[in-house]
Amino acid sequence: MQNRRVLLIYTGGTIGMITDPISGALKPFNFAQITKEVPELSKIKCEIRTTSFQHPVDSSNMNPEIWRELVSLIEKHYSDFDGFVILHGSDTMAYSASALSFMIHGLNKPIVFTGAQLPIGIIRTDGKENLVTAIEIASTYINGTPAAPEVSLYFEYKLYRGNRTTKLSSEHFNAFSSFNYPALAEAGVDIKFKKKYINESSAVLEPTFYKKMNNNVGVLKLFPGISRNQVAHFFKTPEMQAVVIETFGSGNATTKDWFLNELTLANKKGIILVNVTQCLSGSVNQTKYETGRGLEYAGVISSKDITIEAAITKLMFLLGNYSDISEIKKIYKTDLAGEITI
Ligand code: ASP
Repeated sequence: MQNRRVLLIYTGGTIGMITDPISGALKPFNFAQITKEVPELSKIKCEIRTTSFQHPVDSSNMNPEIWRELVSLIEKHYSDFDGFVILHGSDTMAYSASALSFMIHGLNKPIVFTGAQLPIGIIRTDGKENLVTAIEIASTYINGTPAAPEVSLYFEYKLYRGNRTTKLSSEHFNAFSSFNYPALAEAGVDIKFKKKYINESSAVLEPTFYKKMNNNVGVLKLFPGISRNQVAHFFKTPEMQAVVIETFGSGNATTKDWFLNELTLANKKGIILVNVTQCLSGSVNQTKYETGRGLEYAGVISSKDITIEAAITKLMFLLGNYSDISEIKKIYKTDLAGEITI
C-alpha cells in the first residue's frame, strides 16, 4: 500500500498555544513543539510534513488576505501531497473552511480543518485526538480514491462539510455543528465515512485556485424594534456591495413600509441583498408568509439553508471574481460547493 503524504499547516489557534508566564494569557508557541508534544504523530501510517505561518494568528484576526495565503500555500504544494490538514483557531474556523470551499474548485484531495478547545500541552486536551484523526482522514484513500475529497472540518469525533459548520460552544469539546447537512464521517473504533454525503472527487487533475475576495459585504441583523435610522445609515456605508439580512424564522422581516422602501432603494442602488435566517437550522422560504413576500418584492434573494459564515464568504468570493451584478445574483442562487440544499 502506498504511503500517503499529508501537509500539516499551522495557522494559529489554541491547539498550538501556551500560557504566557507573565500575563497568564494564551499565546501561540513555536510550531516545532507540536510534533514534540504529540509523539503519536510518528505512529500514523503516512508521511507528515509540517509548515507554520511565520506569525500564527488567533483566528479572530483571520481575514481574506490570510485566506489568499492559505490557498496559495495549498496550490504550491498540491501535487506533492495526498491531503492537507489545517490547524486553525476554532473561533472563525467555520468562516475559513467556507471561504476555502469557494476559493478552490475541482478538489480531488482532502483539506481538513481542525483545532482544539484546550492547548495540546494541557493534559485534558482535545487537540491530540482532533489532530491525529484529522491526519488519518486526510490520508485515507479507498481503492486509490480519497475518502473525503472536500474542504471539511473535524472536531470531537465528527467530520463535517466545512461550509455547513457553525461554532456553537466556547467551552464544550463538541464545539461545532452542521445543522442542515449530515456529518461526513464519524470516528469511533473505526472512522466511518458516509459516502452518500461526501462530494465525489473531481475528475479534473488540477483544481482552480481563486485568490480574489472582496470584503465589501455587510450583515444586517434584524431585531424587533430596529430603527429606521440604523437601517438607513447601514445602507449608506461607503462601498457596500452586498448585504446579508439576518431574518427571523423562515426568512421573515417586518412589513413596515419604511423598511421595505430602504431595501428597495438599496437594491436599486445595486447593493446585492440576500436573506439568511437567524435560526440555526431550517431554510429561508420567502413565499411562505406575507412577512417574507415583502422581501421577495424588494429584490432580496433567498439563501435557502446556508449558514451565515458561508453566505458572507460566498458573497466575498463572487464579488471578488465577477463584476456583473446580475451574474453574481444568478450564481449566488446556485450550489457552488455543497453549501445549500437545492
Ligand atoms: N481564540 C482561539 C482562536 O480562535 C480559540 C481557539 O483556537 O479555539 O484562535
